[in-house]
Amino acid sequence: MQRILPEVITALLEYHGAVVEKREDNSLEVICPPEISRILGIPEYAPLYFSQKGEFQEGICASYDSDFFNTIENLFAGKRKICSATYVSSLPNTEKISRVITENVPLNNATFRLTKNEVKNISYLLCYFKYTALSDEKHEGILPVLINEMNLSTVIPSEDFIANLKEGDEQDKKIEKDALNKVIRAAYAFGFSAARETLQDFIKSLERRLNRDSKKIHEYYETLKDETHKIIEKHEKTIKDGNVNKFFQKLAAIETEQKWKIHDLLAKYALSLKMEPVSLIRIKTETILFWIEIKRRISSRVFPLAYNPLIKQLDSLPCEVCFNPHPPYFICDDKLHIVCSHCFVDCPRCGKKFCQACYPVCPKCNCDRRRLP
Ligand SMILES: [Zn+2]
Ligand SMILES: [Zn+2]
Ligand SMILES: [Zn+2]
Repeated sequence: MQRILPEVITALLEYHGAVVEKREDNSLEVICPPEISRILGIPEYAPLYFSQKGEFQEGICASYDSDFFNTIENLFAGKRKICSATYVSSLPNTEKISRVITENVPLNNATFRLTKNEVKNISYLLCYFKYTALSDEKHEGILPVLINEMNLSTVIPSEDFIANLKEGDEQDKKIEKDALNKVIRAAYAFGFSAARETLQDFIKSLERRLNRDSKKIHEYYETLKDETHKIIEKHEKTIKDGNVNKFFQKLAAIETEQKWKIHDLLAKYALSLKMEPVSLIRIKTETILFWIEIKRRISSRVFPLAYNPLIKQLDSLPCEVCFNPHPPYFICDDKLHIVCSHCFVDCPRCGKKFCQACYPVCPKCNCDRRRLP
């Protein structure tokens, strides 16, 4: 689910106290507080437009390549790198959510029971990533990722809650460096996976065009080789050895050229995906924590699930490998990691099922499944 740029800019400016109005032509009318206007280098009243280069519109261009877009990160520079906010939640009936948990936590090879629940203040990190997918075409977009700092559950949120955020205390920004890195790493992993899902149509079209062009190259060079073979067969007895050799050399040259053409084609359609954080907002809010005890064989693990007041639904269980929640989940034998059905797979070489959170490569045959085609 890709957010359009005007929506993201609106959310970020509103968070910093601006009043933003969307006009019919998709441009924005912005009234900024003086400090924000200074940081962004724009007037306190500024129309922002997002159309492609070449089309004339009055106001400040705010597209991905614009100077304005590059100054957005200044809002988060230095001391403001992570903004803090609070959100006043309205909590639902605990009984109702407990029922949702018992009916809807999909574990494939383990059981669980709800042990207790408690109302608690926790923090979510809202990360805005800009992704750039580069191949023979360029695709850009903004992806908001909301991550629960306590259990690393992720979601692409709808941003209705942004307008209700209140500025938080300096104190709330304090988070231990290692803990923050862990949260950001998980948000990145999810962001990559979610961006690839957003770009699915583009990736499919790349594959289609690669197949089409490889087929053309194959047919062209196979015809050339066939013709050369025919000449060799026809004249082998009549032309002198030196001349026959010339045709064999031609065959070898065709082979080499074919390999290079395929190599160029793979390079042309290779996809590079880059993600950059545009802004980070740490949101403190009150929630209900539901502690579940997961049981796998003779071991058990206690894990917190939270009702997410920002999106008004229960957080999903996180996959502790890709952080992209794809139920149902499996629980690993050694450390009881929660692993989604995409990440709990058989080793393609020896067939052993293993947990990628425990082992980066197959523990039995050392095969790195990510490097296999
Ligand atoms: Zn996964
Ligand atoms: Zn594991
Ligand atoms: Zn293996």
